[in-house]
Amino acid sequence: MGAARSGTAVARLLAARGARVLVSEQGTLDAHIMQSLQNLGVRLEVGGHTPQALEANMMVLSPGVPGDSPVPHQALRDGIPVFSELEVASWFCRGTLVAITGSNGKTTTTSMLAHALGQAGHDTVVAGNIGTPLSEVVPRTTADSVLVIEVSSFQLDFVESFRPAVSVLLNITPDHLDRYQGDFRCYATSKLRLTRNQRGPQDVFIFNDDDPEVRAHAQDTVTHQGVRTLPFSRRRRLDQGAFVEHGRLVLAMGSTEEVVMPLSRLAIPGPHNVQNAMAAALAARVLGTAPSAVASGLAGFGGVAHRLEMVREIDGVRYVNDSKATNVHAVQVALQSFSAPVVLLAGGRDKGNDYAALKPLLLRRVRTLVAFGESRDKVARELGPHANNAVVADTLEEAAGHARRRAEPGDVVLLSPACSSFDLFRNFEHRGDVFKALVNAF
Ligand code: ADP
Repeated sequence: MGAARSGTAVARLLAARGARVLVSEQGTLDAHIMQSLQNLGVRLEVGGHTPQALEANMMVLSPGVPGDSPVPHQALRDGIPVFSELEVASWFCRGTLVAITGSNGKTTTTSMLAHALGQAGHDTVVAGNIGTPLSEVVPRTTADSVLVIEVSSFQLDFVESFRPAVSVLLNITPDHLDRYQGDFRCYATSKLRLTRNQRGPQDVFIFNDDDPEVRAHAQDTVTHQGVRTLPFSRRRRLDQGAFVEHGRLVLAMGSTEEVVMPLSRLAIPGPHNVQNAMAAALAARVLGTAPSAVASGLAGFGGVAHRLEMVREIDGVRYVNDSKATNVHAVQVALQSFSAPVVLLAGGRDKGNDYAALKPLLLRRVRTLVAFGESRDKVARELGPHANNAVVADTLEEAAGHARRRAEPGDVVLLSPACSSFDLFRNFEHRGDVFKALVNAF
């Protein structure tokens, strides 16, 4: 179901393994892709799902297809097993699976860990939500591969036997509530499925001890599944896991305690990136990377585009592109990453956001709030009264103009929208690229 990149990749994989496959796509499909699938013996239906889609022994969902949409819903009622692409791909993978999820920080942590492992000489394969579907990399995997997989909650909704050797849970904060009937519990439950098949002390669960939701779940995995847990905390010293002491990242594993690096060596800003680094360091050590290699791998990681990405400094004002901040929590951490006053550009397609968590930060950190895009009125109504100054703009271009005029030397102009980009842009990359082009043209 669904013939975007993950759907076509899993169709190819299954066809190559001898399955009889029908790809059912609601929209259109590129002629070239159609041909290549047909060459593999895959049958296709495009422009809508027909009853044929229910004549199956199993159904595989692309992450873009909501599990409660009519056809999967009917399949479940008919007793047809429904799996996510991730689940199916994992049946055929070789090597060690490392799965990373959370509401925020997945791509950053996946990339940082892959960078450190690659530098240390592991045969590292990066896959999942980050860009290349797991189904696509399966043929490349060997018993020696380390697969670093970014996993989204949509992929976890339909896992059955997916069992990572190492799982990483960064945080659970409200996001995508539009796909979970506005219910935070449903969303959290799907994230927690990451660890459901881990068993025994050879399976490792790395988790954020500072997140109460995550911490409670970790206790359950120890009690019921006997999994080895390794917490990380920015707030307190831990007997086992990763923590910060005297500005240095420390790992306590087994009976040893090792200082990995001073945090000042990290190239990416903000307390949230310290958490990402702690998670990556623990995973790299569990996978056998030497502490010195972990340190140089993390220090050499320059971040990912559209995540607090420095664009340019003009007249003493730094312009930062955080277009990937598509929920409220990501904006919170962005504001905590700068000590300078911020001119904040926020707005876009609202996903049922509650902006209240930003209120206390606005007075302290934000010089001017510029609300733009489809949700501009809601953002201005809810946050305007809590900001020192607020203006409203229709477009990003107009918003960037306001920001430029209102910023003072020493300030940071920050695009960190708390909303998705689909009101005015193709995706968050497009929004970030437009912002960078505007700033570069100033
Ligand atoms: P994801 O893949 O989970 O969306 P990204 O690494 O792409 O995560 O980052 C998305 C947004 O969240 C960015 O704005 C980034 O600055 C912010 N972010 C990154 N790591 C964290 C974290 N550990 N906690 C909260 N926010 C984070």
